[in-house]
Amino acid sequence: MSMKWDISSLEDLEHFIWRCTACGTCKVAYDFGPPATAKPICPSGTEFGFEGNMSSKGKIAFARGILEGALELDEELVGDIYRCTICGGCQNQCQLDHKPVIPEIFEAMRRKAVEAGAGPLPPHKNLTQSLKNYNNPYQGPRRLRTDWTRPFKKAKKPIKNIMKQPAPVLFYVGCTGALNQQARPIPTATANLFQKLDLDFGILGQDEVCCGSTAMRLGDAEEFKRLATHNLELFQKLHTDQGVETIVTSCAGCYRAIKKDYILSDAYEEMMDGIRVVHTVKYLHELHTDGKLPLEGELAMKITYHDPCHIGRHLNRFEVDEDGSQLWEGAYVDMSEEDCLYEEPRELLEAIPGMDFVEMERNRGNSFCCGGGGGVMTGFGDWATKNAGLRIAEGMETGAQNMASTCPFCHFNLNAGAQRIGSDMKVYDLVELLDQVVPEKE
Ligand code: SF4
Ligand code: SF4
Repeated sequence: MSMKWDISSLEDLEHFIWRCTACGTCKVAYDFGPPATAKPICPSGTEFGFEGNMSSKGKIAFARGILEGALELDEELVGDIYRCTICGGCQNQCQLDHKPVIPEIFEAMRRKAVEAGAGPLPPHKNLTQSLKNYNNPYQGPRRLRTDWTRPFKKAKKPIKNIMKQPAPVLFYVGCTGALNQQARPIPTATANLFQKLDLDFGILGQDEVCCGSTAMRLGDAEEFKRLATHNLELFQKLHTDQGVETIVTSCAGCYRAIKKDYILSDAYEEMMDGIRVVHTVKYLHELHTDGKLPLEGELAMKITYHDPCHIGRHLNRFEVDEDGSQLWEGAYVDMSEEDCLYEEPRELLEAIPGMDFVEMERNRGNSFCCGGGGGVMTGFGDWATKNAGLRIAEGMETGAQNMASTCPFCHFNLNAGAQRIGSDMKVYDLVELLDQVVPEKE
């Protein structure tokens, strides 16, 4: 079926763009605490300078310049537009009326660059071409998508192929978990946990295609729409034919895409009718709350937790005064963190016997991005690992020797950051830790 997508152009957002007062509040993560926090929040500003043009206020000034025709989408400007992890850190700080759409403004600039043939950056073109050729950003032929499942076959614990066998739960693996060697422990631990918990689940295997997050973050709306349309139609078919009621993913990027980007389709309600999407952390937390997540043994470690942007502040919900009855028309009124997965991972970590959990100074909505998102890992690899090194160093300040997260991208980049600064910090995905303490089924 043909779907209509409501993806904003820069022109659509123009009235918001003029609300920025260039106050600079978006540079720093503020929290009255205790302990009080006032540390830089923007990876781009931290690396390239806040008083230049790299933080949110600078990027919004670019958007004005582009709309007024004062700035050309030349190589330098396009490079600057992509010097942003789309982490939303600035959005959490800003209190003015364009707050709800700040990352949207940055992505709309990227879409404009792509439409003009000036973006994305040359290294990104391998990703977008790979999406067209292989339906994943890693240039991986589809047969490689199931490589991680080999140990399960070998152990005579095969994972259902949901295209052939019905199951109420679809484990949507995501390209990074399936095709990035260093992230493979994440789908492996997830499937292992699900088997131990006796869940009836299946995977799409070689039929899984990218969620489209990479394309959307890079400004390639057409490629995003192609992938997302395919997935929405497939999800509905799986619901009808194979009984899928829940889609679980261990990837923060996939979760964000399905939850927040797919809703831009006019067919979202129809395609997702009867289907719930949850991140593995939320799913396991629900089992834990219901007393269905047995934890045995002990993991004695001092650990801290890194909040991935995509399951944290990207899921903020904003209240806007649409008709002017509260403040004025279009005013930003309030923000809800109800959908953000801040407490679930912490509660699960603390439930593991032996865990000594310590918090980093910048956490939850004020988390400092690992530096890998928004195409930065591909476009500016050196900066991405340098930023991850800063986050690892912040973790070390707590005295922890271990860091947990819940995103394959953060996992990969934080590991690279630890290596870069010569830190012994061990980076785990939360599912890897839970897999160690959830016993085999009787
Ligand atoms: S984006 Fe918001 S916080 Fe940042 S300079 Fe503009 S108005 Fe101030
Ligand atoms: S989204 Fe993140 S990297 Fe981009 S300007 Fe905002 S704080 Fe900086």
